[in-house]
Amino acid sequence: MTIKPYCNDELWKPDKYQLPERSRLNHLPPIGIETPVVESLTSYITRLAESHSISISVLMTRELAPLLNKYYIQNGITKGLSTLLNRGGALNSMGELAQQLVDSLEKLTLKRNLSALTLLPLSDFLSSRELLHKTKAWCPYCYEEWKVSNKPIYEPLLWTLKDVEFCSRHYQPLQTLCSYCDRQIPWLSSKSRIGYCSHCDRWLGSSINCKNTANTVFSEEDLSRNIWISLTLGELIALSNKSSTLTQKVNLREAVQKIVDITHQGNIAAFARAFKLPKNTVWMWYKGKSIPNLKYILDICYCLDISLLSFVTLEETAFQSLKINPQKLSNKFRIKRASPRNFDSRDIELSLQVFLNSQQTPPPTMKDVAEKLGFDRRTISDHYPELCKAISSRYFYYQRLIRAKKIEDCCKQVREAVIFLVKRGEYPSEARVSDLISQPGYFRYKKVRMALRDAKSNLNFQA
Ligand SMILES: [Zn+2]
Ligand SMILES: [Zn+2]
Repeated sequence: MTIKPYCNDELWKPDKYQLPERSRLNHLPPIGIETPVVESLTSYITRLAESHSISISVLMTRELAPLLNKYYIQNGITKGLSTLLNRGGALNSMGELAQQLVDSLEKLTLKRNLSALTLLPLSDFLSSRELLHKTKAWCPYCYEEWKVSNKPIYEPLLWTLKDVEFCSRHYQPLQTLCSYCDRQIPWLSSKSRIGYCSHCDRWLGSSINCKNTANTVFSEEDLSRNIWISLTLGELIALSNKSSTLTQKVNLREAVQKIVDITHQGNIAAFARAFKLPKNTVWMWYKGKSIPNLKYILDICYCLDISLLSFVTLEETAFQSLKINPQKLSNKFRIKRASPRNFDSRDIELSLQVFLNSQQTPPPTMKDVAEKLGFDRRTISDHYPELCKAISSRYFYYQRLIRAKKIEDCCKQVREAVIFLVKRGEYPSEARVSDLISQPGYFRYKKVRMALRDAKSNLNFQA
């Protein structure tokens, strides 16, 4: 039989069907595009690494660094990578680094418009000062809810903004400290996993306790202001995803001029006095010489009952009915939060020392201590950082000891299993030894693998 070459009209002739370009990395769709809870870029990077079962360091050093021209990372200099990771917040922001990373990720994944996962679309009218939470802020209820309902777990871009302190879905404050190790968590680290602490690897979601451990009481006014901030910023982020023309509509200088003109007939000093702002600062905004920090814009919008989006885009109908809400303005200057119980410093300090010196086994975590004392961990930590650190360290030292002991026991079992198998005339392979020991998963530890190798070579088997 002879094989004929392709005929011109054959359907399967290869050049008729051009395959679309293949992406080097997973063509992973970002979550929540065009919604107020669009994913952040650091969340996307973490999920991208997870989807390839590689660590963040491998993704950054081998794939992203060559495109970023950051050779210090590419060459595997740990310090270089940690410098970049320490700027995790900036990766979600609106600077050069965020732009470079977006370009590189778009090349690798062939996903378009990844800038929507950063604040780049808002760069024309956001001031970078005091803009971002330096470390992770998260809603434990959101994590838990997504996990229980089998939805993808991620970190919304909204959580990266410093002014966002509340989850508008659960009416709960965002958490910034791990309940177990009491530490802040970087936006991106070589060990990042979405929903887990990158220090102690514990799950950060919860459906209970957050309300109780956060012993801070928010007044109704405070709560509604915080929820309003989350909603109004979410609205702006969603629209910046949808509309490429948003920035053309924004005129911050004119917006400031209009509100000063409408509320105080153009009297900058009177406006500054009403909002307790330095007169020169308002003058600079009025003349377009500087951009107000987001916090100030939010304060002003809240007291004027106008959404952030209507304000920055000079929405005509919103400006027509513009006037200061005196109740909101006076509340703004009240002390924001009050603890339900007086924080008796001396009493707390003594209790912390008792916990630290107790012989309790296992030693308590700071989460346990805070619950027993009935105060927020953050409040206690602010007063006694050293004592709190010592309590956490003691707990982790104990955990390390327990793990070391378990590994040692496992090594012993491995040695016994090897002797047992050899006596029966079987080859002591890792698989056979695993069948006989109580913790086969411990072969992930180098020490256990070495124990098998040594036991085999002692009996003249090739290791
Ligand atoms: Zn939530
Ligand atoms: Zn932790």
